[in-house]
Amino acid sequence: MRIVVLSGGIGGAKFLVGARAYARRTGAEVTAVVNVGDDVMLHGLRISPDLDSVMYTLGGGADPERGWGRVGETWTVKEELAAYQAEPTWFGLGDRDIATHLVRTTMLNAGYPLSAVTEALCVRWQPGIRMLPATDDRLETHVVVSDPDGGERAIHFQEWWVRHRGALPTHRFVFVGAAEATPAAGVPEAVAAADVVLIAPSNPVVSIAPILAVPGVRAALVDGPAPVVGVSPIIGDAPVRGMADRCLAVLGTPCTAGGVAGLYGARRDGGLLDGWLVDDVDADTRLDGVEVRAAPLWMSDEVATEAMVAAAVELAAAGRTEVAG
Ligand code: GDP
Ligand code: CA
Repeated sequence: MRIVVLSGGIGGAKFLVGARAYARRTGAEVTAVVNVGDDVMLHGLRISPDLDSVMYTLGGGADPERGWGRVGETWTVKEELAAYQAEPTWFGLGDRDIATHLVRTTMLNAGYPLSAVTEALCVRWQPGIRMLPATDDRLETHVVVSDPDGGERAIHFQEWWVRHRGALPTHRFVFVGAAEATPAAGVPEAVAAADVVLIAPSNPVVSIAPILAVPGVRAALVDGPAPVVGVSPIIGDAPVRGMADRCLAVLGTPCTAGGVAGLYGARRDGGLLDGWLVDDVDADTRLDGVEVRAAPLWMSDEVATEAMVAAAVELAAAGRTEVAG
């Protein structure tokens, strides 16, 4: 069986640990299509936070307490940059992490696409799944916020998220470059060959939406033969971790399992979903045209997460819904 997973960073990485366990037990293959909307250039280095969260987590190199970055990290370069008052001071890069960004940036400057760079980095980390960026093109999530003088301005998602904790009067998210972006090498092929596509319980607004904003990725999912099953990142009206509630509020979408399902939409009505997996506490969730099932959705450990993946794959076995008209 071939499983494609759409993934953001930390939540997606946790889910992929369960997907890898499921694959090892059943002989399945997993390909992750990972968000690049969070990517940013800092100090001349290309940072890919979600790709790195997935790579470090699956490769056993992530810091389990912090949830992002490298275990055993040190911060000498950060301190030295601060001594120069080098901006931005609100984004900390660890010494070990910087080596990844140096290798990535050097390869990108030499002309390799991000997908090839990711593959090269994975030779070290051996994540046990195939990792693909959603696109090799530039795609950045920007956030339109109110200016103190009454106007509007767009800031990079990282500045909104890390520096301001999403706590600014916010109007909308813009996926700069998405409309012109094409899927990374291997993405359309992986989706076309998939038996099932899972949407990880990642942030729907700033992790999954930028993947779907690449027209060729969305088309591959809509036209492909595989059923699409989403896993809710919201349990009992609250994001389990992170600030998905702030992002959903900007869209005016309720922070509920049903609200997120509505964002993705039913395949029958031009959306993506054939199935939607919610937590047991949200078992009364309904979306017309979508098969909804409930299971425990806390990714507390690998065993619990593997069971979530198994439930999602089982839901996919219910098959694809008919497209109306
Ligand atoms: P990021 O890119 O690092 O922000 O990570 P993702 O977008 O991949 O995932 C973040 C989302 O994961 C959060 O907004 C939570 O809603 C969700 N999440 C985190 N832990 C859990 C969990 O145990 N269960 C479920 N269902 N969702 C979770
Ligand atoms: Ca992210």
